Amino acid sequence: MKNKIKLGKYGLPLKVIFCSYCTRSNQRPHNVGEFIQIKNQNKSFVKLNQKDGMCNACKFYFEKKKIDWKKRELELKKLCNKFRKNNGEFDVIVPGSGGKDSIFVTHQLKYKYKMNPLLVTWAPNMITDDGKQNFEAWTNMGMPNYTFYQNHKIHKKLTKLAFLNLCHPFQPFIIGQKNFAPKMAMKFNINLVMFGEHDAEFGMMMNKKNNPKMDRSYFVSNKNYKDLYLSGIKISELMRKYKFKLNELESYLPIKDKTFKKSKVEFHFFSYYKKWNFHDNYYYAIENSDFKPAPYRLEGSHDKYASMDDKIDWLHFYTFYIKFGMGRTTAATDQEIRSGIINRDEGIALVKRFDGEFPKKYLKDCLDYMEITKKEFLKVIDKARPSHLWKKKDGKWQLKYPIWQKN
Ligand SMILES: [Zn+2]
Repeated sequence: MKNKIKLGKYGLPLKVIFCSYCTRSNQRPHNVGEFIQIKNQNKSFVKLNQKDGMCNACKFYFEKKKIDWKKRELELKKLCNKFRKNNGEFDVIVPGSGGKDSIFVTHQLKYKYKMNPLLVTWAPNMITDDGKQNFEAWTNMGMPNYTFYQNHKIHKKLTKLAFLNLCHPFQPFIIGQKNFAPKMAMKFNINLVMFGEHDAEFGMMMNKKNNPKMDRSYFVSNKNYKDLYLSGIKISELMRKYKFKLNELESYLPIKDKTFKKSKVEFHFFSYYKKWNFHDNYYYAIENSDFKPAPYRLEGSHDKYASMDDKIDWLHFYTFYIKFGMGRTTAATDQEIRSGIINRDEGIALVKRFDGEFPKKYLKDCLDYMEITKKEFLKVIDKARPSHLWKKKDGKWQLKYPIWQKN
């Protein structure tokens, strides 16, 4: 079969091209429905714009400048008026963990738009001290929180399988988290769920960029649950091979189409209504809550304030770097360039210095958690490296086409 663009491992284009405005490349995969992720599956990747060489996230950043934000805020007020309850009941669910973004959304909804939020949290695998502190900062803002603690025995096993099969140890967490808030909304009869940023902020789901509602395919499915995949394995096989019971997997499964159709819950993105700026959210959280950045640079990056509540976060960014050549620094610099904090050259210098740094700090915790040895870990890591991205020189792995190298 002949393709117009030659594709390598994971269906990524063999030619690495970087966005002309930020630090990401064309090697970034689209968010796929996690329930269909199987081993060695091709992903669709984020294309760069042919005319100006920009990625969709950067294109969207410029498009956002033309949005009438006053009009969008009126839409938000209308939405709040539709759902606000004045009888003392909760009227909106805000999922989160106490990061800068969930603090921003919650504070705005409660204190500016006079809503009555109920906070819900899908617990991190292994919470960090900074994560604990910021979670408290969030829950000290005057709203109650329901946290769901997974069956740890099952969650650990799924995390291990996701790492071994997909080199994606964060997958069970992501799946559970996506499904959790919608399920809580239905359980408590609260008809509005407010998520943070729209996929378009990451350059994905661009055909839905003017739609404030989250795509229901994230948490609704009409498939038989046994045909869905979790940790790269069909659920029927997980149940047969590992003797998992349905009640042990239930919190990971999507809502049934039939059940969802009966409910009136709406799922909206706050970033559709209010201009979303990564860095502004950070300052907002500091000014309006007890949120604190980490007292040190986050290993793998130069930043001190994003994704730091779960020890698996570090491993997650590292596996992403191995598979797609972009790690935690790229994620941070992309956002900072678009937020106007740094320019592209500064971003490239930071990527050169910190991206892909080996995640020493919590590695032992992660290995103990997954019950695997460092040798097994490194074997999975090396197997996950696409040959069009990596080469071995003097016994050390190197990116073939790093952003700082002029081709
Ligand atoms: Zn870009």
